[in-house]
Amino acid sequence: MLDGLPRKDYRKLLPVLEPVELAFGQVLYESQARIRHVYFPNDCFVSMLTGVDGDRSCEVGLIGSEGMIGLPVALGIAVSPFRAVVQGGGTAMRMKIADFRREFSESAALKRELFLFTHLLMIQIAQTAACNRFHQVSQRMARWILMTSDRIKSNEFRITQQFLALMLGVRRVGVSVAASGLRERKLLAYRRGSFTILDHRGLVAAACGCYKIVNDVYARAQGRRDLSHQNRRSHARNRTDG
Ligand SMILES: [Zn+2]
Repeated sequence: MLDGLPRKDYRKLLPVLEPVELAFGQVLYESQARIRHVYFPNDCFVSMLTGVDGDRSCEVGLIGSEGMIGLPVALGIAVSPFRAVVQGGGTAMRMKIADFRREFSESAALKRELFLFTHLLMIQIAQTAACNRFHQVSQRMARWILMTSDRIKSNEFRITQQFLALMLGVRRVGVSVAASGLRERKLLAYRRGSFTILDHRGLVAAACGCYKIVNDVYARAQGRRDLSHQNRRSHARNRTDG
């Protein structure tokens, strides 16, 4: 997301951005806990989990380098409605919320990026709500593996079936059955806690349409962002030429 900012806006943020390493399983915020930092993922990604009945939860959103963890702060709320758990370890930049509030109020470009991201995240969360209600475990599992693979930029990643069951909000046996089905169709391999996608196109076909719907919306937004960069660059060139 920070890449989407004009250089001068990005430079202004640098003194208040702190690089951090985030480890798999690390909890950034508990649900209803106070937010102290916002996080801009570089190569890590974070799951938003929401619970019911005190002991059951599932993933409602997944945020990677396209977004920011701690969005409620931009909306004037300093409490996280979700549990935010690092699902793919890596690096991020974080900012104290007092610094973020000041920079957010002063930078039109940062506002624009965050409004766009808010829109995208709302679409993802809404689609996930419908997906959790209407689609089968194996379709949802295929979608989840594809979303993770896209963010990790690899066809192979480590994940336990227990963790996957937690993300999908199903029993572990449901994950085992779904994984066996996808393995029999030679779409993926699962060995010693590692998933490998064997047939990407086949896995997209096995996933529900939610994967493509959300992906297309993100890709269109990314395209617009690229276009606005080109515009900025051409404005800059025109200024130099003039
Ligand atoms: Zn779905």
